[in-house]
Amino acid sequence: MSAQTESFGFQAEISQLLDLIINTFYSNKEIFLRELISNGSDALDKIRYASLTDPSQLDTGKDLYIRITPDKEHKILSIRDTGIGLTKADMVNNLGTIAKSGTKGFMEALSSGADISMIGQFGVGFYSAYLVAERVQVISKHNDDEQYIWESAAGGTFTITLDTINPPLGRGTEVRLFMKEDQLEYLEEKKIKEIVKKHSEFISYPIQLAVTKEVEKEVEDDEEEEMKTDDENKPKIEEVDEEEEKKGKKVKKIKEVETVTEELNKTKPIWTRNPSEISQEEYASFYKSLTNDWEDHLAVKHFSVEGQLEFKAILYIPKRAPFDLFESKKKRNNIKLYVRRVFIMDDCEDLIPEYLNFVKGIVDSEDLPLNISRETLQQNKILKVIRKNLVKKTLDLITEISEDKDNFAKFWEAFGKNIKLGVHEDAQNRSKLAEFLRFYSTKSTDELTSLKDYITRMPEVQKNIYYLTGESLAAVKESPFLETLKKKGFEVLLLVDPIDEYAITQLKEFDGKKLVCVSKEGLELEETEEEKAEREAESAKFQDLCATVKDALGDRVEKVIISNRIQDSPCVLVTGQFGWSSNMERIMKAQALRDSSMSSYMASKKTLELNPKNPIIKELAAKVKEDKADKSVRDLTFLLFETALLTSGFTLDEPASFAKRIYRMIALGLDVDEDEEVAHEAPAAEASTSEPAGASAMEEID
Ligand code: ADP
Repeated sequence: MSAQTESFGFQAEISQLLDLIINTFYSNKEIFLRELISNGSDALDKIRYASLTDPSQLDTGKDLYIRITPDKEHKILSIRDTGIGLTKADMVNNLGTIAKSGTKGFMEALSSGADISMIGQFGVGFYSAYLVAERVQVISKHNDDEQYIWESAAGGTFTITLDTINPPLGRGTEVRLFMKEDQLEYLEEKKIKEIVKKHSEFISYPIQLAVTKEVEKEVEDDEEEEMKTDDENKPKIEEVDEEEEKKGKKVKKIKEVETVTEELNKTKPIWTRNPSEISQEEYASFYKSLTNDWEDHLAVKHFSVEGQLEFKAILYIPKRAPFDLFESKKKRNNIKLYVRRVFIMDDCEDLIPEYLNFVKGIVDSEDLPLNISRETLQQNKILKVIRKNLVKKTLDLITEISEDKDNFAKFWEAFGKNIKLGVHEDAQNRSKLAEFLRFYSTKSTDELTSLKDYITRMPEVQKNIYYLTGESLAAVKESPFLETLKKKGFEVLLLVDPIDEYAITQLKEFDGKKLVCVSKEGLELEETEEEKAEREAESAKFQDLCATVKDALGDRVEKVIISNRIQDSPCVLVTGQFGWSSNMERIMKAQALRDSSMSSYMASKKTLELNPKNPIIKELAAKVKEDKADKSVRDLTFLLFETALLTSGFTLDEPASFAKRIYRMIALGLDVDEDEEVAHEAPAAEASTSEPAGASAMEEID
């Protein structure tokens, strides 16, 4: 170990990952090469991008390539690139001491059956080198630093040494794999060619295979013998002529080492080719090289836009969502931006809106300036037009997917949330996006339905699209809010994803039909004249009851009225048209960091609606008629109110007092002597001030 050598410990998770890579039995080890080539390509992208604004960055070498050199004698496979390189600090941080979210993610995925070949998706592809190598060196030269050697044979530590032994790289990185004894096949030319063709065909820099051959040459004996080992300088060989030999000059055979490089990826960029000449396999293989995905894409669109502005693009929709789709801190490499075939960047946020962050692909513009910076991109008009086109084409692509039910089901499962987010955010494309929405409904609890299909099932009298939001399908399926609608044959969409509530409130209508929440005030329900008249008559009849109940409940409810939406239940609580629904109130309460000032005016003003046909309500009305001051009426009113809170999707503010009332009912039902009951009870304090009449009030029920 030289004096310049420093040792470091791998961050714990990375150490674990290395153990896993080394010890897991796994046959498809060849993917290590894809990962290392892809890292090389990323590094080349970076230096090319840097050189657009600062051409002197390429003073350390203008040739951009990746070169694979197998050395059978020493059992070393080297992968060298002329990319940006790593400074010493980069080595410390990026190759071992700073954990990435993907490290853990990848290990979890592995333990639940994922495949090691998925490693690239998790951003830890470098470590796949240990599938085939027992020891790895990363020799690297960055423009801002000296040349260093990173080295590790796993086992928890790595070292970094100032490089004073190897020939200078100029700029870039050489990864040297000291191959395991049983992995020597990866030093075979044929094998390397095969793997590069399979996994790295679409890398946009030349991938060279350098093979050094020992060749036997004949030279005149009197010439100075020199074994030339330098790859770049091929020795000049003089033709040996038989005549001369006869003349007595001695000819000697010597061995020389010659290096031949062969370019392995000569295809031109796939997006510049004619779509009719590209097979599905080629698209799939380009997709995989672009995304590190191990599965084929779900759908692809390859198109070009011409006219005032010109660009070519290929957009893909994957089959599944990545493990960190909504992890907003992470920069995504989704759509690569090229300008006239030159890679510019792969994390341009302005190319596609956030809600379409699952779309992958490339865009190659003819019009953008090459030296465009991130800042000026934001303002760029051309980019805005490109973005608009990408959104439109993506929506077309989703429409195509929706023509096949099974495929769309897959899409919806993976990216339904994104579509809902889009409905919420993208006013311009809202109605188009709404066509993709899928929900359960009272008539379709096993299969999701589209709004369009919902409309085809609407009875003629029905004018609006009805929906109910809630915590789960089980919680809303039997909700009292659905009673009248079910009876009328009106289908109700059941929205049980928290984001539904946000999306639907923005959507407001679909295909000219209003979206109406059935748990909010002002539900008209397409009443006939008779129904309306009947309800008005009932309202008059129950005026006294409504007033008494309101009196008892005080500020807990805004008003008490006769309902048109329930058939069986005695009562429900509805919320104001523009305030939160009960579900939204639940969601907001669950958000720890919410601004509580908001809840004071958004929190639902509740209206208690009574069902005049329900025997309990009828009986209660009769009691009130007899004696307005009847104490039991007050207690029962509270019980009804609190039960309605639960069935209407609210939470109880004072569960203890509710429980007490229920226990009293149970005691009554069992004919338990109240004194005896109290004797066995712990000396519970009165639960709350909202407690109406004393315990004895219940005795009056019967
Ligand atoms: P990822 O490439 O997905 O970030 P890796 O584990 O493959 O994850 O690589 C870790 C990091 O090491 C990279 O982000 C990069 O900063 C650095 N790196 C790896 N290979 C190279 C290379 N050939 N040239 C420059 N930097 C590299």
